[in-house]
Amino acid sequence: MDCVFCAIVEGDAPSRTVYQGDGVVAFLDANPLAAGHTLVVPTEHCARLEALSRDQVAELFGAVHDLLRPVQDAAGAEGATVAVNDGPAAGQEVPHVHCHVVPRTAGDGGGPIHAAMGRRPDLYEAELDAVAERIRDSA
Ligand SMILES: [Zn+2]
Repeated sequence: MDCVFCAIVEGDAPSRTVYQGDGVVAFLDANPLAAGHTLVVPTEHCARLEALSRDQVAELFGAVHDLLRPVQDAAGAEGATVAVNDGPAAGQEVPHVHCHVVPRTAGDGGGPIHAAMGRRPDLYEAELDAVAERIRDSA
């Protein structure tokens, strides 16, 4: 398998690694949206978030939690956008789960996560009720 994040985890590709924990590694994004833009990845290759075990998810987001303050402090930021592009349809480019931690400051030109969609669809109450029911039924 030719996975750049697995290569980073194995030390076979260069990275600015900032954190190594139980089953988790974090390094600076090679195409940063801001200084300090960090990617947090499971050490085991896995393409999609739902394919991780609950323990792996706890390790991943535990590391995100622990990194929020150091990333913001290092970047002189006042906040952070935390996001996972889960699947190619959502814009995931590297098929190895990764959580973005992007340090943010007021007036940095970035938008909220809602801006990722570009526009908001017009949805009827009945559609929202139906989708909520489908989620409840399968969760
Ligand atoms: Zn991988």
